[in-house]
Amino acid sequence: MTRKMNQNFMFVIAVSILLSVLLTAIVSYRLFQQEVFAGLSSCAKMIEQLGLIERMKEDGYVQPENELRITWIGEDGSVLYDSYTPAIVSTDHSSRPEVMDAQQNGEGYSIRKSQTMDESIFFYAKRADNGTIIRMAKETGSILQVYKNILPAVFFIALFSFLISAWIARKLVKAFVRPIAQMADDMSHLENVDAYKELTPFVELIREQHEEVKQNARIRQEFTANVSHELKTPLTAISGYAELIANGMATKKESRHFAEEIHENAQRLLKLINDILALSELDDVQGHTLSLERVNVYEIARQCIHKLEPVAAKHEVCLLLEGEPLLIDADRELLAEMIYNLCDNAIRYNKKGGNVWVSVTDRLSVRDNGIGISPQYQKRVFERFFRVDKSRSKKTGGTGLGLAIVKHIAQAHRACIALESEEGVGTTISVMFPGSASALEGWGAAHE
Ligand code: ADP
Repeated sequence: MTRKMNQNFMFVIAVSILLSVLLTAIVSYRLFQQEVFAGLSSCAKMIEQLGLIERMKEDGYVQPENELRITWIGEDGSVLYDSYTPAIVSTDHSSRPEVMDAQQNGEGYSIRKSQTMDESIFFYAKRADNGTIIRMAKETGSILQVYKNILPAVFFIALFSFLISAWIARKLVKAFVRPIAQMADDMSHLENVDAYKELTPFVELIREQHEEVKQNARIRQEFTANVSHELKTPLTAISGYAELIANGMATKKESRHFAEEIHENAQRLLKLINDILALSELDDVQGHTLSLERVNVYEIARQCIHKLEPVAAKHEVCLLLEGEPLLIDADRELLAEMIYNLCDNAIRYNKKGGNVWVSVTDRLSVRDNGIGISPQYQKRVFERFFRVDKSRSKKTGGTGLGLAIVKHIAQAHRACIALESEEGVGTTISVMFPGSASALEGWGAAHE
């Protein structure tokens, strides 16, 4: 890129130097013409005022060549006197453009090529008071000839300007590219990049994205470590119990107990794998389209409660549904999973004889009068594998992924989540879907 930019700059510099040399040549040649005509005009005036032309004619004065040529032309256009070639006397000059102009307007100018063609002849004609025309002529080099003399100087000036501009351009390109190269070299220290004003937002953006990538990598690494750890515990148990049975060291009664343990741990593994799969699918959903359809949140909540009745009964918890139909555009399966997870938690982290109220109004709320969550953990419960009480979670079949899944499903539906909880009193988790009536004020802080 640096090379390309340098080449482009060189090209632009070369073109602009060439153009300016060309334009300067044209303008200065015009000035030169004006100067020559001004000189001829003042000479003609002087000759007229001093009556010199009559005296020259009388004396038969013949001028050496390469000097000013003076021609005197009568009113009828015939030559009365010529300082170069007396022989042209009496020839008709009335058709010469400068003579015609002088006859009509008092003054006339013209430039013609000399016979040798590399010289130009400047003609100036002036009508005298007595009606005759005094014409002055001067031979000078043509534009090319004039420039031939100054060409070496022009060439050196152009070359010098080119070199100076090219040097400055190189410096500018370097300064322009330096922060970008710095960024490419060391992505980890973007804060040290010495960026100019226009590049700052770009560097900021890259810095943020880089941080995000690093953060994501860290999360993925932690997640992999957690997953491995979570898988290891039930697998170790399964392997241990299976080994005991295989060795024939267990009695029939023990074997039965070990088989139950194996079954329970395998169930845990399955649940864990299902939750991990659900999360990874949700990662894919972010940014992709969901299979949205018009669904009734109340109806889905009713079905979830029905499914969870046996679990609630086992924990001696009462499940209650209240509210009214709420129609939203959502992915039916994901919405069901979200409500299921919230209700499942409200049952598992409850007390014997406790209640779970599922309410559908303009939002969905799952409230329980269970153990509650202390304020320091309230934000963290949405993290993957975070559990306040690990043993209680495991004992009740928790994987530590339920609320992370809830958070992802809400995000995929652009819904907001709010959590209110008091230790020993209970927990309420509410989900507010976009497009449903009430305002979102006060939801930002709790939105995960
Ligand atoms: P788990 O599978 O352990 O239940 P979750 O992601 O669903 O994982 O929840 C994370 C943690 O948040 C739980 O381990 C529990 O400590 C806490 N938690 C979730 N819901 C409730 C609730 N309704 N009442 C009290 N604590 C809860």
